[in-house]
Amino acid sequence: MLLRQEILELNAYHVPDSSGYIKLDAMENPYLVPPELRGEIAAAVAAAAINRYPDPGAVSLKKIIRTTIGLPEGMELLLGNGSDELIQLLVLALNKPGATLLSVEPSFVMYKVIATFIGMRYTGIPLAEDYSLDLRSLLAAIKRKRPALIFLACPNNPTGNLYSADALVQIIEASPGLVVLDEAYYAFARDSFIPHLTRYANLLVMRTFSKLGMAGLRLGFLAGSSAWLGELEKLRLPYNVGVLPQLVAEILLVHHGVLLQQAEHIKRDRTKLYGQLREIAAVRVYPSEANFLMFRVANATGIFNGLKQRGVLIKNLQGGHPMLKDCLRVTVGTPEENERFVAALKESMCEVG
Ligand code: PMP
Repeated sequence: MLLRQEILELNAYHVPDSSGYIKLDAMENPYLVPPELRGEIAAAVAAAAINRYPDPGAVSLKKIIRTTIGLPEGMELLLGNGSDELIQLLVLALNKPGATLLSVEPSFVMYKVIATFIGMRYTGIPLAEDYSLDLRSLLAAIKRKRPALIFLACPNNPTGNLYSADALVQIIEASPGLVVLDEAYYAFARDSFIPHLTRYANLLVMRTFSKLGMAGLRLGFLAGSSAWLGELEKLRLPYNVGVLPQLVAEILLVHHGVLLQQAEHIKRDRTKLYGQLREIAAVRVYPSEANFLMFRVANATGIFNGLKQRGVLIKNLQGGHPMLKDCLRVTVGTPEENERFVAALKESMCEVG
């Protein structure tokens, strides 16, 4: 067999067929932008030079990202075809023989998947029972393993919580390697490390625009010092962000307020949905600073299937990790979608018993 053993042992990332379902499985923003703005995008796309390669440095897009996110003076950006690509690039860059990638569990599965297929050692430190950081075991693991790379999703996927800033600072300060805070859900959270980037030489912040309403564009970025990003830039494949994603993202960021307003609606509806789930005695819902809620219910797989039969697709976390036993994750949708979900959940719970 010509293929590497770790590839043979891997399963391809499974994306279920969602056609015809109320799609609450992938943390997408349920809203399109207003028709006038879509008209502006259509006109710009019609005039785009798709016969040419994109601007390899994405100068114009980077400029607007800088101002939109308030990137501190002296810090740089590196763009990726989604932040998944950036995780891959970081692992490729730091995978020296014997080097370790450390993350926490349960968290975003791609850290481990990418480490596995690139062949980097991976260590997953369990979160505390309430899904906060188990600081003592994390600091001990950092001392023992001296990881070259640490990924922490802030807020965390799939649990939805944001770790304490104080704990994160302790980890950054104790780490001999690079720490990447993955702020995929920043738009729904109350805190970010971007303003503190200049303070820590071993810190990068990663974000994606996927959850803010641009999942279809595939655009993410790393923010940090040019010392790090200049080296990582050597690994970025030329033209990894196409003409159309650059163009459309730029227009959408000019109208960033529209997206932020949608995020505000999603946050408001998250609070409402959280309250509705809390009222169901047999459901334990966890607090979230993201655009989804994780909850625990007896016979989660039965409930997941019951929801599917009723046309609602969420994410079944059962089986993914021992700490996710009987856990499900639902993305906050439109108010109507959320109502349909709650009704279908109650029906499924009656049926499954
Ligand atoms: N990080 C986290 C924590 C995520 O949950 C996701 C998407 N599920 C990503 C990164 C990847 O996002 P994308 O590749 O769409 O930018």
